[in-house]
Order: sequence, then C-alpha cells, then structure tokens
Amino acid sequence: MRVGVVGAGPAGFYTVQSLLRHAELQHRLRRIDVFESLPVPFGLVRYGVAPDHPEVKRVTNSWTQLMDRYRAIVRFYGNVHVNGRLSLDLLKKRYADGVQGAGLFLCMGAQGGDRKLGIPGETPCIESARAFVAWYNGHPDYADRVFLSQRDGCVAGGGEAVIIGNGNVALDVARMLLQAPARLHVTDCNPVAVDALAAFGAQTLHIIGRRDASNASWTARELRELMTLAPDLKVIVHEAMRWAPTPPGLQPAQPSRTQRRALEVLRRYAGSAAIDEVGTRAQVTPRTIHFWFGLSPVRALLGDDQRVHLICAPNELFYDSLGQVQCRTIQDAEPVRITASAGAVFRSIGYVVSAPRGLPLDSNQNCIRNNAGRVVGLEDAVYVAGWLKHGPRGVIANTLVDAQETVAQFVSDLRQAERATQARADGSRTHEPEVEDLLKQAGHSFVDWDGWLRIDAEEQHRGRLCGADRRKILTRSDMLRLAGGASVADYQQNSGEGLGNRSHRTPADVAF
Ligand code: NAP
Repeated sequence: MRVGVVGAGPAGFYTVQSLLRHAELQHRLRRIDVFESLPVPFGLVRYGVAPDHPEVKRVTNSWTQLMDRYRAIVRFYGNVHVNGRLSLDLLKKRYADGVQGAGLFLCMGAQGGDRKLGIPGETPCIESARAFVAWYNGHPDYADRVFLSQRDGCVAGGGEAVIIGNGNVALDVARMLLQAPARLHVTDCNPVAVDALAAFGAQTLHIIGRRDASNASWTARELRELMTLAPDLKVIVHEAMRWAPTPPGLQPAQPSRTQRRALEVLRRYAGSAAIDEVGTRAQVTPRTIHFWFGLSPVRALLGDDQRVHLICAPNELFYDSLGQVQCRTIQDAEPVRITASAGAVFRSIGYVVSAPRGLPLDSNQNCIRNNAGRVVGLEDAVYVAGWLKHGPRGVIANTLVDAQETVAQFVSDLRQAERATQARADGSRTHEPEVEDLLKQAGHSFVDWDGWLRIDAEEQHRGRLCGADRRKILTRSDMLRLAGGASVADYQQNSGEGLGNRSHRTPADVAF
C-alpha cells in the first residue's frame, strides 16, 4: 500500500509515525512519500518553536530515528511545493482515488498567514509576530527581514516593545526579547537576530489583550517561564476595561482549569519585581513587563522620532448569550497611548488556515471540514492532521494524539472499503512512474533524506565551531547546494562565505 503525506512538520511526522505503528498497517505499507515545500524537514519545530526551548526541538531526534529505521518505506521529497509543479490533483489521483484504499494526508499547517488587526497605520507600524518568529529561527524566506529599529540604522539599547495578543506566541516573542544574548548564542537562533536582540536591549514590554486576564489563551507554564526569566523583571498589570451588567438569569461561563492556573501565575507576580526575592533592588534597574487587559488597538502612527504610537481604546466586556466574555470598544473613553521603538510592535493574534484548491474550508472553525480527519464531501480518501484539521491551536504533544485519530479513521475507512469490495486494498499500481521520475521530468530539484542529512551535518558542524547547538543554513540555494553533495570547500567557494557566516544571496531554485 502506498500513501502520500504533504508537510514534514509535527503533524506530518506524527502521521507517518502513527501509520507505521498501526497494527493493521504494519505489514501492508510499502511506501510513504512525504512532500515538503522547504528543502529541510521539521516545519514548526525548526522554524516556530523558540530557540531557547531546545528540549522541545529535540523531538526531531525521534523522527530522525524513525526515518532511519523505515528508510525502505518512507521517502522524503523536500523543496517540492505541492500545487506548484506538482499539483494536488495529481497527488489525489496517485494516493487517494478511493479505489485501492490508499490515502493522501495533508499536514501543511496554517498557510494563510497571520490574522490582521485591520486598523489604520497597521502597515508599516505593526510587525507580524509570525514573521519575527521565523526570522529569529533562521527561516530562509525571512532571514533577510529587518526588525527592532535596525531599519533606520539606529540601534539603541533600552528598547521598548509592544506585543498585541494573549497567546503563547505572544509569550515566546516577549521571552525572546528579554532573553540573555549569551543564552541565545548557544542555541540554533539566527545569529543576526541574536545580535539585533542584544543591541535592542529590551527594557520595557507592553503585552495587550482585548479581554480580561481570565480569558487569555496562554498556558501557566509558559507564563511562569516569562515571569521568572530574570531577577530584574518587574510585572505590572493594568485593567483598562469596564464590565457591562450581567443580564438577569444568565450563567456566565467559568474559566477553564488551564485559564485558572494561568491566572494564578499572573496574580502571583503582578505588582511584584522578582528582584524583591533576591534582594538586589538597589543594584539593578528593573526591566518592566506591563500587561494591559481590556484594550483594543484602534490606530497606529509612526512619529518623527521613529517611534510607533499605538492608540488603544478601553473595552467594555459583556457576556454573550452563551455566557462567554466578549468585548466592544467604549466610544467615549479616553484612549490609552502606548509607544515603542519602530520595528518592535508585534501583532500576535493567531494564524489563518487556507484551503488547498478543491478542499472545503470551515472559516468559522479556521480549518478544513473533516470528520475525525477524513475530509468531508470528497470522493477521494483525503485526510487532514494538525492545524489544517482543527485550526491553529494546541501544543506539539497534542499533534500526536490528533494524528493517531486521523490514522484510526483512515484504517476504519479502509476496512469498510474492503468489506464493500470484498477485496484487499493494495493502493499501488505497478504501471505508475516513480515520484522521483515525475519530479525529474518536471525539472524539479528535490532534496531526499540523505540530502537533508548532509545539510544537517553541516549545520551541526558550524554550530560546534562556535559553541552552539547548530548554525542553520539561511538560504534555499545554499541548502540545495549542500544537499546535492557540495563539499564544504566547494560550498564556501561558491557561496563566498566562511564557516559560521551567513549568505546574503537571494533564494533560488538551484538544480543539482
Ligand atoms: P492563540 O492562542 O489563538 O492566541 C491568540 C490571541 O490573539 C488571543 O489572546 C486572542 O484573543 C487574540 N486576538 C485575536 N484576534 C484579536 C484582535 N483582533 N485583537 C486583539 N487580540 C486578538 O494563538 P497563538 O498565540 O498564535 O498560538 C497558536 C497555538 O500555538 C496555540 O495553541 C499555542 O498554545 C501554541 N503555541 C504553543 C507554544 C508552547 O507550548 N510553548 C508556543 C507557541 C505557540 P481572544 O481570546 O480575545 O480572541
């Protein structure tokens, strides 16, 4: 049996793992073809998880072992953009025609970019946290971006930053801004970002949420990590909102256990400076995190002083008919003006899922319509896992359970199809060309698993030279060159860079 998986991030790898470990599939799977648009695997773990969370990134070790063990079955095709030269229709035909029981698993995450505030001045004043995260993680499409006041050449310490949103990405951004440069230097963080963050020297952060603290999306562990990051942090909580009266008879929804635990953490540190605990107040100027609740940005302005002025309206919070807290701006309330350095105002208000052509989008739930992972309304056996399946939420560990559910649905569909046709599904037809041949015919340069291992070895080698976990290759063209077997010497000669330095060449599709 042959199946296809599109996307080699956490959802893709956990799907592969769940397929390989499913008792009913173990002796039947002949090929799992994994397609990834980047030349390198691991998606969100490599380019989304913060560099100062190396313990989370270590999950890639188990995926590497999996690829090693099942090398004869699982093939990796990196640098293959599905719906580019390889169409989704072609993949559906090849892996999901529903006749022979094979399936196509889409695990491409939230490809629709990040949510926008839609306020005047958003461009150019407000940066995307998603782009910032990709930049400090050395994503090849973002490595040349400019953040934190570097744009006008004025890099000054004592930076002031704003983060709009109350989720875990907002906390990641806050923590990275305050993180000690020496700690980042030993990680896989983009070295350009390490230098920029050090030069920025964040002194004051404002984190803005539109509802109250008990409705924040972040989790207690991540919040505590920020609060206890350094001994010189002072935490101030501002509640800018007012509450509308609760309609008689309405039962307000209670905060979940997760929300209650996060609230306890906030309360514990609010109004305090961690320096109180170590008694060094006299020697250290506190850096301050301001948490603003019940505020909505309504306008952003870039001042002559190269500072961004964010005008925020206090909100009235009210319970909707389901007892959930909602917000609306109070028209006549005095606005709150928060200022920060240009290039250091981030919106972190969630990601948007977009549907690959022909797939049904549920725009309310921000996911593809599916039933336990099976895409609804299609003849073909197409499945989704990860953020495409349930929207952009949940931590990486949730993705495993979610992939297992999708694979269980696939197996159940398979059983049903076999009962109906009285035939054992095989899912592979001998007359079809191999994927490699298809890609080569299309003139497509792809990276196989050995190619990735060559990139990986080079990145680790560069890391060792400067005492870091790894130094990522920052352009697609350099990745392709290394994957194709260019020696380090060739590589340096061709790219004009020394070990540990970054290339400034633009990405290009280089054949090898
Ligand atoms: P998220 O958890 O959905 O949080 C989005 C935040 O943006 C919410 O506070 C939301 O407030 C706010 N928001 C949305 N629209 C807004 C608007 N127009 N104006 C103001 N605020 C607005 O999304 P995320 O932080 O991007 O995280 C995505 C997923 O990745 C989450 O499941 C997260 O837990 C996970 N993640 C985990 C980790 C970790 O485990 N360390 C790290 C990073 C990310 P409302 O509630 O009012 O809508």
